[in-house]
Amino acid sequence: MGGGPKRRKKSSPGLKRLLKTKRKTKDLDQIDDDLKEENIHKLLHQEVDPDLPGDAQHYCVHCARYFINREALKTHFKSKPHKKRLKSLELEPYTIEESERAGGLGSYIPPKKRKIETQPMDDETFDPTKEDVDMK
Ligand SMILES: [Zn+2]
Repeated sequence: MGGGPKRRKKSSPGLKRLLKTKRKTKDLDQIDDDLKEENIHKLLHQEVDPDLPGDAQHYCVHCARYFINREALKTHFKSKPHKKRLKSLELEPYTIEESERAGGLGSYIPPKKRKIETQPMDDETFDPTKEDVDMK
């Protein structure tokens, strides 16, 4: 296979079309980009798209996957692949390689770590009675 679909540059404004025609899974650094606040909001509030599973209404940003319904998405959040993905995203993509290169060296500075959490779901309303009850 020569050539390949490598010609595409940065994602164009035609995000909707891109999602419709592309079934390939995203790379981690693309997902990293999706996790920026302005993008994550867009991805979690997509327009209804009958071509996509669940009309594009149940999307896992971290795995770049669509699910057919809320239950499937919830189940996915508890699944191993999803948790693994959160872990891989905790380290900034470019520092992983660096850390491998620095392995064994004494003066090793660990890569930046961020907290990656599963996106909130609308129906999980915050219950103040369960939180912050400091009974120590
Ligand atoms: Zn996921």
